Amino acid sequence: MARAALLERLTPVTQRAPGRWQIGTVTAIRRETPRVKSFRIALPMWIAHLPGQHYDVRLTAPDGYRAQRSYSVASSPCDEGEIELTIDRLEDGEVSPYFHDVLVEGDQVELRGPFASYFVWRGESPVLLVGGGSGVVPLMAILRHRRLTMPEVPMRLLYSVRSAEDVIFERELGEDALLTYTREPPAGWEGHRGRLEEALVAEAARSLASGLAFVCGSNGFVEAATGLLLASGFEPRRVRTERFGPTG
Ligand SMILES: Cc1cc2nc3c(=O)[nH]c(=O)nc-3n(C[C@H](O)[C@H](O)[C@H](O)COP(=O)(O)OP(=O)(O)OC[C@H]3O[C@@H](n4cnc5c(N)ncnc54)[C@H](O)[C@@H]3O)c2cc1C
Repeated sequence: MARAALLERLTPVTQRAPGRWQIGTVTAIRRETPRVKSFRIALPMWIAHLPGQHYDVRLTAPDGYRAQRSYSVASSPCDEGEIELTIDRLEDGEVSPYFHDVLVEGDQVELRGPFASYFVWRGESPVLLVGGGSGVVPLMAILRHRRLTMPEVPMRLLYSVRSAEDVIFERELGEDALLTYTREPPAGWEGHRGRLEEALVAEAARSLASGLAFVCGSNGFVEAATGLLLASGFEPRRVRTERFGPTG
């Protein structure tokens, strides 16, 4: 799809009101890692999202108690009629264990979206994606959409994970992904280890610093990564951040 056509198709999304609450149906569940699963959800009032946007999910208990959380869309807006949410199971959480332990294919779930107009990719070029843990989810929507629609756009993913078993979307990470393992790398790993540091960010940013950077992860990860991006030449206005912090 030509760049102009892509923008024409995506831009109107921001001008619409985000969707009303609707009941989606879980059509497929895929295990990504021991702690992470992806859920494909068919939406009766689906509208194309911008890569990077999220949905709000609402659970209601029989006594009326409600819990609401945000989840980024992992899929490309080219997947019409469905979205994919990829959720990390927090041991003492309310909503993420419900998705992991209770929901099965065919179940229904209440959700509303898509939301956000800042942490979104509208076809700009070049792009550096920097994700920590489940922070890779909205970045995967950007990467998937670029592969489907604008493969010529220079884009690289810098992805920080704890250990080999924690790599989400492993089969989809190609030469455009640079990984660092903060705890246990896979056997024989000769790449980067440890947290993000200046040389690694500079390597990932090579030839991309004139473009946009999208950073997503925990508060601490986003702070550290943003500082390193600025040090490697990104202007502050070119660094967009999303934090998956605690809700409390
Ligand atoms: C815009 C946005 C997009 C998000 N997208 C995703 C996504 O794609 N995938 C995903 O897995 N999560 C995502 N999150 C986080 C998600 O909204 C929830 O915060 C998370 O699933 C925890 O909810 P819970 O009900 O299971 O745990 P809670 O009951 O809210 O919390 C349980 C415990 O975990 C702590 N905690 C809460 N959230 C986190 C966290 N993110 N990291 C570490 N500790 C935490 C709390 O302080 C508490 O101690 C996103 C958050 C935002 C704001």
